[in-house]
Amino acid sequence: MEKHVKIGHLYPDLLNLYGDRGNIRCLSKRLTWRNIGAEVKEVHIDENVNFSEYDIVLLGGGSDREQKLVCDRLAAQKKEFKAFVEDGGVLIAICGGYQLLGAYYQIGKDKIQGLELVDMYTKQGEGRLIGNITIQSDIVKMPLTGFENHGGRTYLGDVEPLGKVIHGFGNNDSKEAEGVIYKNVVGTYLHGPLLPKNPGLSDYLLSKALERKYGDANLTPLDDKEELMANEYAQKLS
Ligand code: GLN
Repeated sequence: MEKHVKIGHLYPDLLNLYGDRGNIRCLSKRLTWRNIGAEVKEVHIDENVNFSEYDIVLLGGGSDREQKLVCDRLAAQKKEFKAFVEDGGVLIAICGGYQLLGAYYQIGKDKIQGLELVDMYTKQGEGRLIGNITIQSDIVKMPLTGFENHGGRTYLGDVEPLGKVIHGFGNNDSKEAEGVIYKNVVGTYLHGPLLPKNPGLSDYLLSKALERKYGDANLTPLDDKEELMANEYAQKLS
């Protein structure tokens, strides 16, 4: 049987800051280069998400206004989303999308109720945390690098961060932890797009999706010379 991975891109019109769409193209390419089928479906705000269709789901970054629209929409599907996550579905959530995974995102007196998929919450702080960022994660050898721009500060409960901050801010003003990892969920403030210059993380996500679906991943190595050069260059910027 030929292997095949289906990726759901949730609300690309609303959550697509700093080229988050590039993450989808990166995942698809890394599958087709290995002769693994790649299918992408964009899900728009007027559609229901059929989580059982997908191996990987991506939630990109968005402004506070757009986050609110998305959260209101997904509130109706909280149970299905939770079931996807608990069953090991792969979810990559970036910045605005990442903030929505928690209990809430507090903006002054306004509280956007989160999806409660991960034990964390976010509060808007004084000023924005902006700049190039590099982190070191336990899940991949290579440092992960990207760009962050967020007013929200995220605080983790009983879950692990994606990595330790080497340069930049990360989850909040303490400049210690960045992102979250819970089951096969990766949440992060790294935009950029994130995956093309962090091939180790791309393959981590693809492996998790393939293992869940087929029991093993067996990803053949790719020539990542250019991707690694991009990673090194981006690290120097941070
Ligand atoms: N609205 C969120 C914040 O400012 C997320 C922004 C983003 O996705 N870049 O914290």
